[in-house]
Amino acid sequence: MKPTFHHKPVNNEFEDPSLFVRMVRERRAFLFDSGRIDRLETGDLLKITDVFVTHTHIDHFIGFDTLLRTFLRRAAPLRVYGPENIADCVEGKLKGYTWNLIHEYPIRIEVFGLTPREVRHASFYAENGFGRIDRDSRPFDGIALRETPYTVRAAVLSHGIPCLGFSLEEDFHINIDKAALNDMGLPVGPWLGVLKKMVRGSAAPDSTLRVDGRNFLFSELSSLARISSGQKVSYITDVSPEEANIEKIVGLVTDSDTLYCEAYFLHEDMERAVERHHLTAKIAGEIARKAGVRNLSLIHFSPKYMDRVEEIKAEAMREYTG
Ligand SMILES: [Zn+2]
Ligand SMILES: [Zn+2]
Repeated sequence: MKPTFHHKPVNNEFEDPSLFVRMVRERRAFLFDSGRIDRLETGDLLKITDVFVTHTHIDHFIGFDTLLRTFLRRAAPLRVYGPENIADCVEGKLKGYTWNLIHEYPIRIEVFGLTPREVRHASFYAENGFGRIDRDSRPFDGIALRETPYTVRAAVLSHGIPCLGFSLEEDFHINIDKAALNDMGLPVGPWLGVLKKMVRGSAAPDSTLRVDGRNFLFSELSSLARISSGQKVSYITDVSPEEANIEKIVGLVTDSDTLYCEAYFLHEDMERAVERHHLTAKIAGEIARKAGVRNLSLIHFSPKYMDRVEEIKAEAMREYTG
C-alpha cells in the first residue's frame, strides 16, 4: 500500500519533540508539536497548514517563532490546535514583537483551544496588527480537524497541566487495481486522481468521467478502486503515568500503523516519572501492546539517559512484544 502521508521526527530523542507529516500527493504538511524546528527546510515549513500542540512547555512550543517568521508573507492561513490556554500563549508570543508595518501582510492565524467540553476559537490577523478576535466556541467531540480524507482526533490528557494526545487518520485508502486497468485497456494518468476523488465523495453512478477521449460512467470505473483501511499515525508525549491517561491513550491510538510515544524515564525511575508527569519506556510499550499498534517509535528521552539509549528501547520493546 502506497502511503498517503510520510512522517518523521524533526530532531533526535534527546532534542525537542516535533513530528513532521507530509501529505504525499499534496503540497501540504502537518506538524505535531513545535519544539526547535530550524532543521526543517523553508520549502517544508511552507507546506505546514495545521500545527497540533500537545502543551506549551517551551520544548514543545519554542518553534512557533520559526513558523511565524516563515509565514508572514504566506496567503494560506495557519491553524493551531492546542490545549485550553493555547490562544493566550499565541497572543503572548505575538505581543512579544512590534507590528506597525505588517497591515498589508496576508497572514491569518486561527487558533483552537481544546477543552474536555468545547473548542474555543480565536483569530489573529496581520491586517489588524494581530489583535485577538474571540470567536464562538463549538462543542468538542474528540475531533480537532476533519477535512476529507483526514481526521485528527485529540484526547485531553494530564501532565500536571492539560496536555493533548493526537491521532491522524486517513478515512480509507484507495488503491487502483492495475490488472483491471490493463484489462480495460485504460492508461494510467491524472484521471485516476479524479476517480479517487469521486470515490471519496460517493459520486452518483451516472456521473461521467472522460478518459483517453472517451466518456465513461462512474459506475463503469468505480470497481477499479480497491478500498482498504486508511493510514493512522498517533503522537503521545508528556503524560502523567496514570491509569486514566493510559486508558484514554489506548482508546485514541488503537490500530495505529505507527505510534510515536514518549519514553522519558526508565521504569526504575518511576517515582521521578510520577513527580515530573512523564511516561516510562515500559508504559510506552504497554500502551502500544494494548492498542495493537503495528510500529512503536520512541521519542523524548530524559537527557540523564544519554548513554543508556539501548536500555530505554529494550525496556519498551520487551513490554510491547510481551
Ligand atoms: Zn517535554
Ligand atoms: Zn511538558
